[in-house]
Amino acid sequence: MKIQEFEDQRIPLVELFQSISGEGISAGNVVTFIRVAGCDLRCSWCDTKYAFSEEESDVQMLTPDEIMDRIEELGSTELICTGGEPLEAGKVKRYLPAYLAGKGYTVHIETSGACPLYTPQELKDFRVDRDDLSYCMDVKCPGSGMQDRNRLDSILELCADDELKFVVRDRHDMEYALQVIHRYRDHLSEEDLALNFSPVFESLKPVEIAEFLKEHAAYFEENDLWPRLSLQLHKYIWPPHMRGV
Ligand code: SF4
Repeated sequence: MKIQEFEDQRIPLVELFQSISGEGISAGNVVTFIRVAGCDLRCSWCDTKYAFSEEESDVQMLTPDEIMDRIEELGSTELICTGGEPLEAGKVKRYLPAYLAGKGYTVHIETSGACPLYTPQELKDFRVDRDDLSYCMDVKCPGSGMQDRNRLDSILELCADDELKFVVRDRHDMEYALQVIHRYRDHLSEEDLALNFSPVFESLKPVEIAEFLKEHAAYFEENDLWPRLSLQLHKYIWPPHMRGV
């Protein structure tokens, strides 16, 4: 899709709000979240089920300009494009993050890892360089029930400033994460990618991840890898099930 065509389209927006980035290396920054509707995965622990479908009653269909007006009202230039799934192939919403990056915003994309990342041609069509945006890509662990949807080789397309996220609900998930890390360790190390281990809220205690990372500290050190415990800060700042924060 070309920019001119995209500008006339409407995008299913669930919510757009300013908050504190809760996860990953941007945690603690004041950012604007843009949550689009639609995701065809069904992670067992998903905490944004209200964004599964464009048919939900509170979804608004907005043009890119209308979305930018809302961003401007809030004032932050650092954006987190999330969902649902922002990069679903064949959907207009896929191009919103690239469009916003082309407008000069700092854009982080949270993606399930089940959809293709932008191709060089897509970036070119939106006049965006690869380093104008960053990805936080999930690797779905067995506890999500969505492990077979991983496109693991997308890891090889990640580069500096991108991140991987493993949402883990038990030790089995952490061991799976370690297997994936081991398989891609050369690339993860070369690009110095953050490897976020995030506990399923109220299922796995953060201390269990902390102990696991300590237990494997020598392995991470030897392979020049950057594992991190990543907590969902917003669930500690505000009531854990509150929306729009
Ligand atoms: S990919 Fe994200 S939005 Fe989709 S079901 Fe999983 S957690 Fe929910």
